[in-house]
Amino acid sequence: MDILAQSGQRGQRRTVDALVKAVTSRYDIVARYYKIKRQLLGLDELYDYDRYAPLETRETRYQWSQAREIVLNAYNAFHPQMAEIADSSSTKNGFTLSSAGKRGGAFAAPTIPSLHPYVFLNYTGSDKDVMTLAHELGHGIHMYLSRPKGALEAGTPLTTAEMASVFGRCSFFNDLMQRETDPAVRLSMLARKLEDSFATIFRQISMNRFEDAIHTARRSEGELSRERYSELWLKTQRDMFQDSVTMRDDYGIWWSYVRTSSMCRVTSTLTPLAISWYWPCSTSIKRRGHPSRPNTLMCCLPAALIGPKISCAKRV
Ligand SMILES: [Zn+2]
Repeated sequence: MDILAQSGQRGQRRTVDALVKAVTSRYDIVARYYKIKRQLLGLDELYDYDRYAPLETRETRYQWSQAREIVLNAYNAFHPQMAEIADSSSTKNGFTLSSAGKRGGAFAAPTIPSLHPYVFLNYTGSDKDVMTLAHELGHGIHMYLSRPKGALEAGTPLTTAEMASVFGRCSFFNDLMQRETDPAVRLSMLARKLEDSFATIFRQISMNRFEDAIHTARRSEGELSRERYSELWLKTQRDMFQDSVTMRDDYGIWWSYVRTSSMCRVTSTLTPLAISWYWPCSTSIKRRGHPSRPNTLMCCLPAALIGPKISCAKRV
């Protein structure tokens, strides 16, 4: 059964299988990283709630004008047209800047092809916000270039929707790292970047494995209890973290935080996100040559390590 095609994502089952196999076979990358993070944090044991602890609380703040310059430079370095489109989105009312009390989150909206796409985000000056700006502008550029397709065909399935945005993030991150001179802040930025990549590649696939496990168990065991869900959640999470993170029994209930909309279609929703993340990182590596420079390597490390196996997926 072509699961992605069935959900309108137009992927192929064998591609998904190859992706899952490639990612799960490199869970050791996640375990290695969290062992290093435990040492950097000076902890004897790293618990599930420690995973996202920042390595450094200091961070550089960026004025809006600086953020614009950084992001536009990054897009311009790839192709001037990308910077041109991104820039026009900020000068033709394409941005809605946040005011106090606005809900969190950021997104790009294509509306209709005859209008310029809109980008909405909260900007507080952190490097994460600059990254979000680069990400959403990537969507905006993609939407703008898709306009000739017309209203019915300009939309993209999840398998390609995140490609331009993630590509923007990868391009801009190297520039941002070069500007930062404080070694501790640089290390913290790299850690966040890696965790960002893990969240999109490994975490999504581990959730995919969880959903696969509950469906498989449901077929053979009948109605599943909450405890059984928790057991399968812990197992699929432990498969990924191995012995690097201590999962408390309480963490078992965390399957319930995955949004219902995702839970019902994890296989069709989460694997495309991983595919979307992989391609731009690989392209970024290819464009810069082999990732010998530390910044590029760290930015794209997960994709670089699992890359050859995913290439197989593309050939099937
Ligand atoms: Zn996105």
